Amino acid sequence: MAKWEENIRKVIPYTPGEQPDKSSMIKLNTNENPYPPAPGVTEALQHIDTDKLRLYPDPAVSDLTGAIADFYKVGKDQVFVGVGSDDVLAMSFMTFFNSDKPILFPDITYSFYDVWADMLRIPYERIPLDEKFQICAADYKRENGGVVFPNPNAPTGELLPLDMVEEIIAANKDVIVIVDEAYIDFGGESALPLLEKYDNLLVVQTFSKSRSMAGMRIGFAIGSPVLIKYLNDVKYSFNSYTMDRITIQLGVKAVEDRAYFEETKEKIIRTREWTKTELRRLGFEFGDSKSNFIFARHPKVPAMELFEALKKKDIYVRHFNKPERIADYLRISIGTDAEMKAFVDFLDQYLTDCKIVTA
Ligand code: PMP
Repeated sequence: MAKWEENIRKVIPYTPGEQPDKSSMIKLNTNENPYPPAPGVTEALQHIDTDKLRLYPDPAVSDLTGAIADFYKVGKDQVFVGVGSDDVLAMSFMTFFNSDKPILFPDITYSFYDVWADMLRIPYERIPLDEKFQICAADYKRENGGVVFPNPNAPTGELLPLDMVEEIIAANKDVIVIVDEAYIDFGGESALPLLEKYDNLLVVQTFSKSRSMAGMRIGFAIGSPVLIKYLNDVKYSFNSYTMDRITIQLGVKAVEDRAYFEETKEKIIRTREWTKTELRRLGFEFGDSKSNFIFARHPKVPAMELFEALKKKDIYVRHFNKPERIADYLRISIGTDAEMKAFVDFLDQYLTDCKIVTA
C-alpha cells in the first residue's frame, strides 16, 4: 500500500438497486412510482427558458420551499430542500449528529444510515426490531446522540403508529429525532403535526415516491426554524447551489397539483392491497405494508431462487442478503395494475410448476 493511501478516507458505499433500461421490463426493485409526474411538470418542461441556464439558481430555493410550505401549511423558514431525501438526510446527519454518544436506528432499516454514519464517523447503535419487524419505542429510551428511523420502515413497510413516534420524540428531547417519511403518503400518519409540540423533531420526505419524481432528485425536511437554519448553515458550507433551475421549477409544478397527487397515491394503495390478496393466495408471508412496496417471503421457496427466476423474465424485484434475518425476503415495489398482474401470473405459474400451488 502506498504511503498516501493511509490518509485516504475509505468508505464502504451504499449499493443502490439496479437500473436496467429495457423497454419490456417490469421494474419493481427501487420503489419508484409507476405513473408519470403531474401534467404541469411536462408542460413546464416544454417551456424551459434555456437562456436562464447561464445564471446560477436561487441558493435559497425560495419558490420550491414556498410551494412546499404552502402545501403543508408551515412557515417557509421551516422547510429545507435538497437533491433527493438522500441529500437532505446526509446533510442532517452532518448537522445534527455531532456527539460522542451513539445515534440510534433500527437493525433492519434503510441501509444508507450506517453508510453516512461510518463516513462521517458518527458512532451508532442498531436497535433490533422485534420478531414481527416492529420498532419498539421503549428501546429508544437510552442515552444517545440522536435518533433516526423511517416511518414506514424500509425495507419492511411497517408503519409505527403516531403515538409511538411521539413516545420516541418525547423521550429524546435533548437530541434531534429524524423521522424519515419517504413512504408516508401511502397510508401512514405523518409526524408533521408533532412539530407544534417538539422542537427536536425533523421530518424528512421526498418527491421520489408519491410525486413520481425520483429522476428529478428532490427531497425536503420540515422542522423548527432553528433546525432549518442550522441545516442551511451546513449546506452553505458545502455547496450553495444544490438545486438546479429546472428542478426547482418542475418541483413547484409537482407540489401544486394536489388532485393528481391524491389520485396517484390512491391508485397505488389500491394496487398494493390487490397484490397482498394475490400473494396471500400464493402462500407468501408479509406484514401489513403501508408503503409502495411489500416485503414478502415464501415459506417453501428461497427468495434468491424467486429473484433469479423473475429476473430471467425481466421482472426486477429487490433482494437484500444482509442482515441474515431478511435474506429470505423479497422487496416488491408496487407497479401499475397490469405490471402487478403480470408479476402475480408469473409467480402463480412458477409455483404451480414447482407443485407448490395447486389449481
Ligand atoms: N429514505 C428511505 C427510507 C428510502 O427508502 C429512500 C429511497 N431509497 C430514501 C430515503 C431516499 O430517497 P430519495 O433520495 O430518492 O429521496
